[in-house]
Amino acid sequence: MFYIYPPSGKISLHHMENSVFTRLDYLEHLYSDRVKYFHGNFEFLLENTLHDRVGHFTLRLLAALSSDLWTYWSVREVLLFKHRLAKISSKLLYKLLRSFSQQIKPFNSESLIQLTLYQISILYLKPHIFKHLSYNHSEECKLYSCKVRFELLPNLIKSRKVTINAGYAIIYCSQWKLLLESLFFTYLRIQKNIFKSETKYGIITAVNINTESNHFPPCMKHLHTVLRNKHRLSHYARFTLSLFLKDCGMELNDAIIYWKEEYSKEHNCNSVCLHNWNASEKKFIYSIRHLYGLEGSKKDYAAPDCSIICKTMPGPKYEGGCPFQHFDEIHLKHLLSSSLKERKLMNFIKTIHRRKPNEACAEYLKLITKRTQILFISNPVQFYHMLNKT
Ligand code: SF4
Repeated sequence: MFYIYPPSGKISLHHMENSVFTRLDYLEHLYSDRVKYFHGNFEFLLENTLHDRVGHFTLRLLAALSSDLWTYWSVREVLLFKHRLAKISSKLLYKLLRSFSQQIKPFNSESLIQLTLYQISILYLKPHIFKHLSYNHSEECKLYSCKVRFELLPNLIKSRKVTINAGYAIIYCSQWKLLLESLFFTYLRIQKNIFKSETKYGIITAVNINTESNHFPPCMKHLHTVLRNKHRLSHYARFTLSLFLKDCGMELNDAIIYWKEEYSKEHNCNSVCLHNWNASEKKFIYSIRHLYGLEGSKKDYAAPDCSIICKTMPGPKYEGGCPFQHFDEIHLKHLLSSSLKERKLMNFIKTIHRRKPNEACAEYLKLITKRTQILFISNPVQFYHMLNKT
């Protein structure tokens, strides 16, 4: 019912049509409060079945192409989710929570919402909490609680249904349905944004990347500089920078030229790096195409969020990370000194002391753009787009 990944396998066109039209018909009945007049085939609406998934994902795909259609569909789909949640059995709830923890890999997870779903499922699946949730406890019950980033729950914040503390909404056990419903809405909204035409391909090219890197957030600017100086990056740093460039609009051919240019040079690092473009050209091209969703599982990977970058430290040789979290003061000053003059930089470093990395990053962006409306940076791509718009 809260599906993360589309189903695999084959389905006949006839069944696909039935899944979609039956779902649309049911959604309309639900929306107009006329469910008892629905005479369609419930076989296409059974939770967790192939038909239900196909109906959901096909409509999700179609709706993402038009704002009007998305508004029409998402309101009804959230209503269906709410309707199902209202009558959910403990068995189905268990399945739902398990599906999050099984499908989402916390260390590979590309988005804050997936990570949140994973964390919630782990918490709610603890036997004593699960038992507690499965009972009809009072609407005021506050025995257990969890914290969720406020930006994931715009509905609950807007309706003042949760308390906020230091950027986190406090969710009590009695609100678990509200929480899932709100996350479901946010999840659909994020999926829709994937189709927004915001990404203008070709903005960053292999030729202009040095100039464009002045618009990169500190984390990515640092990786680009290390690559230019040492001509090599460790695996995870390469992965992170490649996805960032892709999501900012670098085309595949430019990405290949960019990496080829560096990896064709002798490396300039202390490690015994054996990677060399000429010796492994096919492998390199394959892995770049893979990140662009053109090889292997054909998954279109997204650049990791700041929360993931801040949490990930794959090894001592890793050159990446969030400078506001992982760098000492000397390195941070050095990195930011290209965009801030000495005095401003000193003041800035003082003000960000003890602030969260993404708030510090937003402060930095405010300072260099002189914009005041930026509160929080959640993804390096967001930083790049904001700086590019000014
Ligand atoms: Fe990069 Fe995010 Fe850290 Fe800013 S807050 S430097 S965008 S990881």
